[in-house]
This record gives sequence, C-alpha cells and structure tokens, in this order.
Amino acid sequence: MERVLVVGAGFMGSGIAQVSAQAGYQVHLMDIETEITNKALRDIRWSVEKLIAKELLREPSEKVLARISPEKDLSSASQVDWVIEAALEEEELKREIFQEVDRISRPETPLATNTSSIPITRLAENTRRPERVLGLHFFGPVPLMRLVEVVKGEKTSPEIFERGVAFVQSLGKTPVRVQRDIPGFVMNRIFSAAFREAVDLVDQAIVSPEDVDMGMRLGYGWNVGPFEIADNAGLDTFARVGQTMRALGVGHLAPSSNLIERMMAEGRLGRKAGKGFYKYSPEGKRLPWENK
Ligand code: NAD
Repeated sequence: MERVLVVGAGFMGSGIAQVSAQAGYQVHLMDIETEITNKALRDIRWSVEKLIAKELLREPSEKVLARISPEKDLSSASQVDWVIEAALEEEELKREIFQEVDRISRPETPLATNTSSIPITRLAENTRRPERVLGLHFFGPVPLMRLVEVVKGEKTSPEIFERGVAFVQSLGKTPVRVQRDIPGFVMNRIFSAAFREAVDLVDQAIVSPEDVDMGMRLGYGWNVGPFEIADNAGLDTFARVGQTMRALGVGHLAPSSNLIERMMAEGRLGRKAGKGFYKYSPEGKRLPWENK
C-alpha cells in the first residue's frame, strides 16, 4: 500500500488526508499539536459519514479512519511515497518544512506543496531535489471539490509532473496542468480578479455580499458565490494570499480596500470563526450578516 505524509492538519490538510485515505493510501497526518490532529480526525469522521449517508462512499468510516495515523513530527517522511505540505501560508515556515522533509525522506520521494500563492521554485530551492518538487493545489472543501492544479516549478521534471497528474487522478480528482510557475497559478489569478472587484464594491457599499453571491449564481452560473468561497476558505488565508500577490508584483489581483483586514481585526475570519461575510449558526448554517 502506498503511503502519503500530509504536513498540516487544518482545513486543507485534513481534507487531503481524507481523500487519500478514501482512495486506499496509508496516510500520516502531521501537525504541531495533538489537539489539532484530534480535531482533524473528528472532522474527517463527520465528513466520511456524510458521504456514506449520501451513498457517495461505500466503505465504513472505521476502515477509512484506520488508514490515517495522526503524528506530531515529520519522522514518517522516511517511509512515504508522497509528501504533501499543507501548513500555514507562510513562506519561511514552508521553506523549513521542505528542508526537513528533504533531509528525512528517500531521495526519490516527490515533495508537493498545496500553497495558494508561494512560488514552487522558491520552496524547491531549499531541497536537494528541485526536480521532484511540484505544486498540487487542491480546492476546499477537498472532499467535495474535484479540481487540483498540478503546477510545474522551474526545475520540476516532466516525469514527476506526470506522476503528480496520475496521483491526483488516483484520488478521483481532475487535474489542470499549469505548465509554468507564475504567481497565484491559474485558478487563483482568475478568481482573485473577480474577488478583488467584489470586495471593493462591497466596501464602497454599492452592493451586499449576499447580492454579489446571488448575482454570480444566477447571472454567471457559479455554484457558489465569491463571498461564500472566501468564508469557507478562511479570510486569514485570503489576506495572506493578497500579501503574497502584492509582494510578487501582481498586486492588481488583490483588493485595493483593506476590508478583509478590518474584518479580521473584528474576529470575522469566516466559517471557522462562526462569522465572516456571513454569520453561521452553531450547526454551520449560513445566516446573513445583519449590520450591513
Ligand atoms: P489552516 O490554518 O486551516 O491549517 C494550517 C495548519 O498548519 C494548522 O493546523 C497549523 O497548526 C499547521 N502548521 C503550522 N505550523 C506547522 C508546522 N511547522 N508543521 C506542520 N503543520 C503546521 O490553513 P488551510 O486553509 O488548511 O491552508 C493550508 C495551506 O493550503 C496554505 O498554504 C493555503 O494557502 C493552502 N490552500 C488553502 C485553501 C483554502 O481554501 N483554505 C485552498 C487551497 C490552498
């Protein structure tokens, strides 16, 4: 059975661990505190049971969960066939993780990052195997979103890139091949252009988040509006992506207003905080934000 190490057990890491376990991989799920991996396992159980109830998954949850081992350090990197990094969106932290997994893992193991905005090439620089480093950019919530961008760094070998494509397909996901390591990759650039405009229009009180989301659903056939997407992903992650975009010279893709930063200062981080552009009931039901 092939083994995968997922580094970071937050929103994305737990989802990547779940879909890997569902696909039959033996998963090592690492985070810095046991409390975080315990919460990830609870979230995964909840999600797997929902998929079973909808008849989208046939295996009992116990069997899927038995393939995931929670861990507090990176030592299992030595045993795995894939490393997927999904820790916080901070370049220095990711560089350290890449250096460490490069040191511990077998030289042939591909090292993937789920970064939303940090160049793959910069993370690869810190390793002795830049030809084996690539981007696997999942979309959240991972168990539901079928897309993964497979991103080639400057030195990623064609063979590893194609292995990335095959790995993503083995998880039941559909890859989009991104042939060059450009800031924000492809999907985030396109989304960010729309989101920048949406945030600026809401901040100028021209339109409400609810109306934008409804408009994009009814007018453009989006399944989910941009503010619903932002709340699901977490506004802190969005703020970091905006900062990275500005630092990488594509600031035109980040909102010009500081609405997200002001919301963060009020603890409005999105769904995980119970409030963002919307409010959420304790059961996770989306409610409109009353003080527009
Ligand atoms: P998150 O905050 O939910 O999870 C990040 C996790 O990283 C936390 O649990 C944190 O404890 C952990 N972490 C911090 N330091 C660590 C270390 N040294 N070793 C291991 N784990 C460590 O964030 P997230 O939304 O899951 O995002 C994770 C990554 O995925 C980021 O790079 C983000 O840009 C990217 N991403 C996010 C989304 C999204 O929709 N949220 C979509 C695509 C990509």
